[in-house]
Amino acid sequence: MIGFLRKVGRSIFFKLVLVFIATAIVMAMAVGGIVRHVADDRSYRGLIGKNMAQYSMFLIDEIGNPPKYEIAQKLTDEFRVAIRITSPGMNWSSTPPPPRRIPAEFTHINGFPNVKGARDRGRIFIEVDQADANYSFVFGRIGNQNGPFDGGIVLLIVLVVGVVLTLSYLTVRWLFKPLEWLTGGMQNMGRGDLDTTIPIRKYDELGELAAAFNDMSRKIRDQIKAKQQLLLDVSHELRSPLTRTKLAAEFIPDDKIKLQITADLDEMEWMTNQILESERLASERGGLILEDIDLSKLVADLVAIYEGSTPGVEMTVSESVRALLDPERVRALLRNLIDNALKYSGAQERPVKVGLHAGPDRVLITVEDYGEGIPEEDLPLIFEPFYRVDKSRHRGTGGYGLGLSLCRKIMQAHGGSIDVESRTGEGTRFLLRFPMQR
Ligand code: ADP
Repeated sequence: MIGFLRKVGRSIFFKLVLVFIATAIVMAMAVGGIVRHVADDRSYRGLIGKNMAQYSMFLIDEIGNPPKYEIAQKLTDEFRVAIRITSPGMNWSSTPPPPRRIPAEFTHINGFPNVKGARDRGRIFIEVDQADANYSFVFGRIGNQNGPFDGGIVLLIVLVVGVVLTLSYLTVRWLFKPLEWLTGGMQNMGRGDLDTTIPIRKYDELGELAAAFNDMSRKIRDQIKAKQQLLLDVSHELRSPLTRTKLAAEFIPDDKIKLQITADLDEMEWMTNQILESERLASERGGLILEDIDLSKLVADLVAIYEGSTPGVEMTVSESVRALLDPERVRALLRNLIDNALKYSGAQERPVKVGLHAGPDRVLITVEDYGEGIPEEDLPLIFEPFYRVDKSRHRGTGGYGLGLSLCRKIMQAHGGSIDVESRTGEGTRFLLRFPMQR
């Protein structure tokens, strides 16, 4: 409930509708005040008094002398005026009768010495003293009529206000639709979908904003693609000279130098291969070779390879799960994660745990270690190519920050996802979610 109220409180639509309502109330009050001011104007009030006195005299004439009560009742029925006639020995009231509440202050009306009048709650009271009878007239709401505020009217007002508010809310929503698209587009871009474009269906300021966003996202996309292309081209072009140099290195007579150079060349070759492999995975259909495999066996076989490593690797759950996957790629991915987990765990730490859980529509593999962990600020970046927490690059602590970026590419190619949870000093858990493909 509080969450909902907070959301409503932040909603720009809601605020605009509030502004509408506030404007409408202020306008209504201002107009009402002006009308009342004009009606209360003294000369205007006097004029109303005179008119009503004149009208009352006309009614008395109609009723006749002596008063004909049936004519008085007819006047009540026709003109909505309540009448009381008091004469010595006679006290007659119309149906409905004049209200019991009589205003305290009656004023004399200029030009009519025997007539006085008063106003109360939208009604006009006129008293006429004649020699043989007194007449009271009440104009306006009489009897059970609730006048302008009866139930039907109130309902109608509520309905009209409701319809107007709903329409204004819908209009504002429609006007601000591009904001929703913009938010969605930015979230998509944030998730890495650089091909996001926002529909431009309005040619106002928000339409211009959407067009500016599309322009910006296109430029960013072009720049990133150009950089990726450069990386790929360089990696591609490096392959032939690398092979040639490796071949030439075989002829170096000094074994020590030969070994050093060959190791360096192997590392360079590994790097270019990783880059080219991620490009293959990013291509259409991901370049995967899918097979229906026993995933639990694949994981168990892999874990067996690490026998004797420190602090060791164990498989926590062994349920039989079949899935349609590229076994080579999944093996490479898991090796990468397990290698990292071992690399960043101390020898005295608990062993690395590999878990496998099959759900109705997906398979979850976890790789968990109790090592040094990853600082919170690095977590969103570790899947980026060439990102390393420890910026100093040396053989002891490993590679070039390409492993996890490749892992993410492999998961994406499978239509799955990779997530990480980590606390420094406590350990790290990677969660791989594969969709169940049937
Ligand atoms: P690298 O080859 O440098 O290990 P990765 O892409 O595999 O590159 O990992 C990126 C960075 O993420 C690493 O430099 C390391 O700092 C951090 N990292 C990855 N896995 C772990 C882990 N299990 N524990 C702690 N840090 C990790």
